Formats: sequence, structure tokens, C-alpha cells
Amino acid sequence: MLAVGMLRGKTGVHTFEIPKPEIKQPDEVLIRVKEVGVDGTDTNMVRHNLQDIAEDHNEIVMGHEMVGVVEEVGNEVKSLVPGDAVVMTVRRGCGICQPCLHNQSDMCMTGLYTERGIHKRDGFLTEFVIDQEQYIVKVPPHLVQLAVFTEPLSIAEKGIEQIKVIQSRLPWTCPHAKHAYDSPHWGGCKTALVIGAGPLGLLATALLRLSEAYTYVADILPEDSPRVHLVKHMGAHYMDTRAKTPKEMVALCCSPTGNLDIIFEAAGAAATAIELINYMSRSSIYVMTGIPREELLMQVDAAQLVRQIVRYNQVVVGSVNSNRSHFEMAIKDITEINAHFGSMLEEMSTHRFRLQDYQQAFALSDPKHIKTVIEIEPWD
Ligand SMILES: [Zn+2]
Ligand SMILES: [Zn+2]
Repeated sequence: MLAVGMLRGKTGVHTFEIPKPEIKQPDEVLIRVKEVGVDGTDTNMVRHNLQDIAEDHNEIVMGHEMVGVVEEVGNEVKSLVPGDAVVMTVRRGCGICQPCLHNQSDMCMTGLYTERGIHKRDGFLTEFVIDQEQYIVKVPPHLVQLAVFTEPLSIAEKGIEQIKVIQSRLPWTCPHAKHAYDSPHWGGCKTALVIGAGPLGLLATALLRLSEAYTYVADILPEDSPRVHLVKHMGAHYMDTRAKTPKEMVALCCSPTGNLDIIFEAAGAAATAIELINYMSRSSIYVMTGIPREELLMQVDAAQLVRQIVRYNQVVVGSVNSNRSHFEMAIKDITEINAHFGSMLEEMSTHRFRLQDYQQAFALSDPKHIKTVIEIEPWD
């Protein structure tokens, strides 16, 4: 069957033939792939020739955001039957560390994990894929058309979960019980700044707005960009950072609560990411999710930075990948996003290609672009 990915010793993205997988273990599930989303990780792999192929292979199938339909299940599979729509998690644990042994490979301690379509394990840009039941999450039939957003939304879910878990140390930031971190309206009386209006920034904004946080989104896009339209559609405020210094940005974000409680970095712009630490409010949290690719040297007043983080009880936390629990949260929140923000997710999927047109999918340059989806087999 046809697969799309990278070949050892060759630049760019290519097609090649791989054998159709077969069920060999009783807990395995064979899935017919329907759609695969393409994100910055995929396009960066191609652009910067970041080949991360398993030692005993000469190619890696790309694609880590998938939705498919169960074709066949092993004897011991309990939660899935043929015909179920499903999504699949990306990381496979090291099998050694405690987080990986407890379904939390996103927090792996050894670094010996693999990732489907990214790091030493084949991804989903092909016709059939196979894996163990534990990595496969069922999608309700009415959500299949949007389920390709589950994986990117799961990344936002994990970042937001880190905020809630860590900031639960401050349960009394406002007098309203309904704004406690274990409430659906936990963002009330709090302000948040999201850096980057790419797919991840937009999905994080959606979750922050669902929580009722006053949300500002910063990027370098013109006001007429479709991404800015979606920011405003969610009731968040857009800031063009080309017109503002970080200090001015943060001053604006401190209204109306007087504090900037949350910064969610989703751009991978290293200099801005570091500079913004200087403007964090007291007892605030800063989540970094973007991964800068190139070296960047800059001068910082290290004493000032350390002094401030200590004196203001600040938290800067990194968040990468996601586990099954975040996929389950994401599937629930797709329904919430639909209910609150209408056709936002449909509008985000701006470009669709068939598998045979994969070259176009990886070579896009369109100011209206938000999300690319590759259709392996159209929904009926
Ligand atoms: Zn591990
Ligand atoms: Zn409140």
C-alpha cells in the first residue's frame, strides 16, 4: 500500500510502498485511515530535513494527527468493534520509567520513547495502520468530520491542564467559588495571553475562552487574516505585535483584572518567549509549548530574571505531547467548541488534499492557510 514520508539519505517528502499490516497480537486493532492533519512539526521535518528514522529502517511514514475507522480487532480487544471511528495517540513509552508504565508517556523520564510519524516509528499517512487497543480512542459518530483536530487539541488540553494543576496552589485568587480551578468556569476573573495564532494557539484560545478567561492573542498577522477573524469570533482580543513592545502588550493584557495570570506560548519564537518572562505578573504561570528550531543567542539580565521569578512566586513550565487522557478531554471539548464557537473548527481546516497530492500539502504558502488535512479515503 502507498505511504508518504521521508527516505534516508534523500531530502524532501516522498511516496513509497509498504506492506499492509496484519493483526498478530490479541490486543491489536487494524484501522483504515480516513484523514491525517499536517502541522508545523511535519512541515519543519521536511523543510529542515529533520530525519528521525529508526536504525533498522530506511524510511519513516509521516503524519501524527489521524482519524480512521476500525477494520478488524484482535481476540482480546474489548472497547472497539469494526466500524468504530477512532483517533490514535502519538507517543509510545519507553517501558522503563514510572510515568510510561502508568499511561503518562508524555512525561517520560528516560527519553527512550518513540513517536508515530515523528520519532523512530511510522506514522499515519498511509491506508491502514495497526496498534494496541490502549493507544486508540473511540470517537462518537457525530464528531468524525472534526476528529482530525483531536491530536492538536490534546496538546492544548495538556498545556491548560498544567496551568490548572499548578495554579491550584492559589485557590483564592478571586472571591468566586465558580472560578476555582476544578470548575468549568475556572478562567473567570483571570486574564490570559496566547502567543501565536497558529492552530495550537487558536485551540488553546478556544479552551481559555470556554473557561471564561479574558484572552488576548498576539501574532504578527494583519487584522484581515482569517486567523484574526477566528480569534475575535471566540471573543478574544487580537494584538499585532509588530506595533507593540512586549511591555506595551503586557500592560494591555493586565486589563481588566490588573494581573496577567496566564501566558500560553504557542509560537516557538525564542526571543519573545524569553523576553516576556520579564513582564509576568505576581504568582502567574507561563506555559511554553512552541519548539524553536534554530540557535538564537541573546543578552538577558539574569539577576533580574531570577530575582523576579523568586520574589513573585512565578512558574515557567514546559509542556510537550499528550496522553490518552488528553485525547479523551479533547473529544469532549470538540463538542463544547462546536456549541460555543459554531463552525470554527471547520473554518480552521482551510486546505484539503488527496494522498496523491501530498507534495502540494507540504509546499503550501497561502496567507489564508490555517490547517491542512490530507484525505486518504473520503467520508461517505
Ligand atoms: Zn519513559
Ligand atoms: Zn472570580
